[in-house]
Amino acid sequence: MSTPNFETQYGHPLMIVDDTDYYFPRCPKCGSWMEKVGDEWDCCECEYHTDEPEGFELDDFSYEFEIERVQDELEDFNDTLMFHKLTLKSGYYRGVQTYVESNDPHYMENYETRYEWDLYRSQAIRKYDSEERKVNKYLHKLKDQGLKELELRCIFSNGEAIYDYV
Ligand SMILES: [Zn+2]
Repeated sequence: MSTPNFETQYGHPLMIVDDTDYYFPRCPKCGSWMEKVGDEWDCCECEYHTDEPEGFELDDFSYEFEIERVQDELEDFNDTLMFHKLTLKSGYYRGVQTYVESNDPHYMENYETRYEWDLYRSQAIRKYDSEERKVNKYLHKLKDQGLKELELRCIFSNGEAIYDYV
């Protein structure tokens, strides 16, 4: 029995920091990270280059650095929100995904929305719905920063899930 790697949140796009983007070959001559230039991989330290690189490894420094950057970015955005909170959550096996928590007035009574936000239930719902759109628009725009959007294609009966890049 396996588990889907990412948690699907219906109504919100699934954005990920893709760990597979952070695998690079090491230079066999000097051990530095190599960089892809056209069809070739170059070592910036010793100028060794090859079109058949070997030994790809996770550059965890760059990967962790990117995760922290996105986390800061989400925290800034959270400051502009009333009902939602965006966080990052590790995939079950690999990668990191965006995760949306919300305090949804649709499921509340009038006295609760008055207490929580000093808003009538209908006002709170209107604001919530518009914030939902703002959150989804923001999530999609994270693509401009190098995050990728995934869509769950299917879950097999053994629990394994298949995702497509959108
Ligand atoms: Zn080198």
